Amino acid sequence: MLHVQNLSFSAGKKQILHDLNLTLSHGKFVAIIGPNGAGKSTFLKCLAAVTKPTSGTISIDGVLLNYLKGEDRAKKIGYVPQHFLQSFPMTVQEYVMLGRKPYIKWNVTDLDQQVVNETLQYLKLESLQQNYVDELSGGERQRTSIARALVQQPTILMLDEPISALDIKHQIQVLNSIKQLANENRLVIVVLHDLELASRYSDYVVLMNQGKIYKVGSPSEVITKQSLRDVYDVHAKVHPTEFGLSITVIEAV
Ligand code: ADP
Ligand code: MG
Repeated sequence: MLHVQNLSFSAGKKQILHDLNLTLSHGKFVAIIGPNGAGKSTFLKCLAAVTKPTSGTISIDGVLLNYLKGEDRAKKIGYVPQHFLQSFPMTVQEYVMLGRKPYIKWNVTDLDQQVVNETLQYLKLESLQQNYVDELSGGERQRTSIARALVQQPTILMLDEPISALDIKHQIQVLNSIKQLANENRLVIVVLHDLELASRYSDYVVLMNQGKIYKVGSPSEVITKQSLRDVYDVHAKVHPTEFGLSITVIEAV
């Protein structure tokens, strides 16, 4: 269980997050959505303990985030930032293995190797495993960062716009593999811009606007004609389909 209470964050004089409250349980796929600058990345950084909130508390399974350190925290939280993996003189296989660090005592074990191999297979990265990370395309890099977070086998996986550089096939592959983690009783929190995919995959949607949580609920409760108008300033049609919601933006208001 992830519990956020009265969380605020300011950078200098500018308040970016305003008194956020949220409780999320394991086994759920949660999408954070909202317009540019809404505070999604800042919120995720606070949850991942990358940024320290100005006030408020975050706890995981009853333990305050501040008290979780080192390997214990790495086993609990996997985090993939929005812009990641600039340049590393390492192969994909070596880079992904770094995600096993919290588990490796002396040497890489057969289990570590097995988890890495399965994940590379899962994300269709096997053919690239000996390639250097620096030489990958944007989408391949993005999938490699996700693979590294997956092999960490965290209780809570947080991903900031993980499919922004992926083609439609890889978007679905990545979302399926993340969904699988939620089905294995982990908590997955994903910042997504694609509202249709967010509605298709999520159990809950957190809609943010201007540093606040505007609404939390099921996709069809949160992604409505009215909330799209209020938060995104668009006039849109929203229809339920077999695979989540179909959203057509008619015009910007
Ligand atoms: P999102 O991910 O929803 O697009 P961000 O969390 O990146 O939004 O940013 C929210 C707002 O906070 C933006 O207006 C951004 O410019 C501002 N911001 C983020 N980090 C800082 C910082 N360290 N200093 C000043 N302003 C910041
Ligand atoms: Mg962002």
